[in-house]
Amino acid sequence: PKLARLVKLNTNENPYPPSPRDIAAIQAAAQQGLQLYPDPDSMALRQAIAAHHGLSPQHVFMGNGSDEVLAHAFFAFFQHQCPLLMPDISYSFYKVYGRLYDIATELVPLTQAMQVDVAAYARADGAAVAGVVIANPNAPTGVGLPLQQVEQLLRLHPQRVVLVDEAYVDFADENALKLALKFPHVLVARTFSKAYSLCFQRVGYFVGHPGLVTALDKTRDSYNVNGLGQIAAEATLGDLKFYRSNFKKIITTREWLARELTKLGFRVLPSRTNFILAKPPLFPAQEWLQKLRDKKILVRWFSAPEVSDYLRITIGTPAEAAALVKAVREIAG
Ligand code: PMP
Repeated sequence: PKLARLVKLNTNENPYPPSPRDIAAIQAAAQQGLQLYPDPDSMALRQAIAAHHGLSPQHVFMGNGSDEVLAHAFFAFFQHQCPLLMPDISYSFYKVYGRLYDIATELVPLTQAMQVDVAAYARADGAAVAGVVIANPNAPTGVGLPLQQVEQLLRLHPQRVVLVDEAYVDFADENALKLALKFPHVLVARTFSKAYSLCFQRVGYFVGHPGLVTALDKTRDSYNVNGLGQIAAEATLGDLKFYRSNFKKIITTREWLARELTKLGFRVLPSRTNFILAKPPLFPAQEWLQKLRDKKILVRWFSAPEVSDYLRITIGTPAEAAALVKAVREIAG
């Protein structure tokens, strides 16, 4: 946004900057070697990720943000004559990349509670599918699917690749990493963007079977992960205490904001992420979007009919959340 002093709660960025150690590591790296190509295999970073999760670097595929690793998986695994299954309301990237690669997609409606409807992914007639992609916790709903149900979903299509996009999982209380190690057809996507404050650096990865990682390696460019991004992400993993304290702050602010908005008549979905999806009272959500914008607060509205009555609001600092609540009070009169 070009406007100064805008409260930016529209793209689910972390409101806190990276750790001082992380910034020092980026600065030190920038002092030397920018004229050289970075490690094409991101090996130091993959080793750090492997140590962090208790697996081997061969289980890790790195990319320029998790968007890029998802794009490679769509290209490598989903170009079949049968449809790729995905929730009708989820991360818009999946539909866009489905179209880009000419992959037939089948949108599976969420349940009434706006949860991924696992049973609806079964194909009783044995009809073939190209694969499955879900975000868990889902976006833009923020709603999480319990791990047991994630496993049920994975078991439905063992012959195809299933992607579980965990971009927001650090704000939740369970994750599917152990399922990516247990099942050879499952890839779990992670990013340094959200929980680790590194949107600017573009670093994401998959965890999954080495066979899938090798296949993905054939589709990527040699230097797909920039050098400063590799350094930054590695330094991040050396300073986890700093980030975990930020997760706690964001979760505390999330719960505070959900309570305050509920008191003001909003219907807030239970969130496991760093954003909430909330149905405002009094005016249509799209009007709220503009009224908040007039007060220099940017949130997100989606035109899809299933969610067009809602606003998606990123969890900012406590001061930003308080500014939002104040603006809502003024708008509601
Ligand atoms: N998955 C989901 C569900 C997201 O919301 C986003 C960010 N918009 C991404 C993946 C991609 O994040 P990045 O490319 O920054 O890792």
